[in-house]
Amino acid sequence: MTFHTAFAGYADPSLHSAGLFIGGKWEAGTGGIPVLDPSTGNTIGEVPDAGIDDALRAVDAAEAAAESWRNTPPRERSEILRRWFTLMTERAEELALLISLENGKALADARGEVAYAAEFFRWYAEEAARVSGEFRHTPSGVHNILVDHEPIGVSVLITPWNFPAAMATRKIGPALAAGCTVILKPASETPLTAYAMARLGEEAGVPPGVVNVLTTTNPGPVTAAMLADPRVRKLSFTGSTGVGRILLAEAAKSVVNCSMELGGNAPFVVFDDAELDAALDGAMVAKMRNGGEACTAANRFYVQSGIHDAFVEGLTKRMAALKLGAGYDPETQCGPMITTKAVEKIDRLVAEAKSRGARATTGGEPMAGNGYYYPPTVLENVPTDAALAQEEIFGPVAAVYCFETEDEAIRYANETEYGLAAYVYSRDIMRAMRVGRRIDTGMVGINRGLMSDPAAPFGGTKQSGLGREGGVTGILEFMEPKYFAVEF
Ligand code: NAD
Repeated sequence: MTFHTAFAGYADPSLHSAGLFIGGKWEAGTGGIPVLDPSTGNTIGEVPDAGIDDALRAVDAAEAAAESWRNTPPRERSEILRRWFTLMTERAEELALLISLENGKALADARGEVAYAAEFFRWYAEEAARVSGEFRHTPSGVHNILVDHEPIGVSVLITPWNFPAAMATRKIGPALAAGCTVILKPASETPLTAYAMARLGEEAGVPPGVVNVLTTTNPGPVTAAMLADPRVRKLSFTGSTGVGRILLAEAAKSVVNCSMELGGNAPFVVFDDAELDAALDGAMVAKMRNGGEACTAANRFYVQSGIHDAFVEGLTKRMAALKLGAGYDPETQCGPMITTKAVEKIDRLVAEAKSRGARATTGGEPMAGNGYYYPPTVLENVPTDAALAQEEIFGPVAAVYCFETEDEAIRYANETEYGLAAYVYSRDIMRAMRVGRRIDTGMVGINRGLMSDPAAPFGGTKQSGLGREGGVTGILEFMEPKYFAVEF
């Protein structure tokens, strides 16, 4: 891995590891994937471009380590994860700078991500020692049913660029706790964080081959080759619904067990009786965490007519006051988007909404200059069938729609193929819960704009995914129940 000068001042050199990480060894690899600083568009480093042979060597390494790792006592696996948590916490500032540098997010968001990411190691260090089985009699009362949980086996983990640390630890934590060995393929836009974390994993005592990391510009064929290998028993993917569909089809060929954390299109519903300031605070978190580049990001604000104007005014003031800049500038509150392509998509969605009558009360126009910036934007009078009501905006654009009745809000909220997250604001908790139950999503924030928590089951319904990460059940995604019919 090569680092360019822009990088040197920003992160701890001991986290700069060289190359692919396979079987506990750092390999220079071939080819170079440039890593860009989205704040400037400058290249800050390069990582190797792995091919199918490299990926299959990673499967060899994961398989070679599998037996010993699954037989390592849960307490020992737990202590390694706990050390990894401690190391991430001790090195939080360097990791945050690194995330900010390659992803562009504001430092405050990057610090939040490191803390959140490390918590998955602490949580699963605790869960590793708590896996339980089941014993029961058959209804006839004659026989016995014993259910054990076994590690599912070698697991391929694929992660997106928007949370380069947390999306990896949310998979590695439960996989290692369950006794599985893994191959992590991080997004090419943000590989440096993944490699830095692997360095800390080594330091924490993760044995060679238990965690392997590779980067590639050819993810389709590389992943297909791994999924076709009968030693690979699990695919855990976080990313877009489009790629999720492709991978489900690929996994179907050899019936590989899949967990899918896919796209979102979260409605944020505000009733007339909501506390305005609380709703605005929640809206800012739900919309602007990571500059809007979050799967749980509020994508559609449905606001009841009685509070609508005050809400738009308050949101406009708060959005307009945000300081836009390079993620690693400590003053920055909203960093750049990940790529020019991302900015172009936002621009297209905003332009389409405006051409159909939406008005920008702040922002709403692309910016000139270097770096991939889009200004914080509020749109009102948005038609409910605008393209940005159906597609993930994935940027700092709040589209506000007006509604009259509870049934109308629920109908709008459910008019999407996605079902990841929703937010409901009302002082009437009975109403908020009633509405939350009728919105078809895996997660609902009730008078809260932030729902991510390692102790909670994270995931979606409909085309937002399959399975849950985090919480008590997250470890079971990496285990197979095994039933013993026992006579005694
Ligand atoms: P993406 O689907 O483009 O890429 C995700 C990962 O898949 C990357 O590592 C990428 O290299 C890899 N990939 C791309 N094509 C592939 C292929 N054919 N075979 C195998 N791997 C392939 O998504 P992205 O742009 O990196 O991330 C943004 C998306 O992720 C958004 O849709 C967002 O909602 C979603 N997301 C979901 C969650 C969740 O928990 N549900 C969390 C974060 C992000």
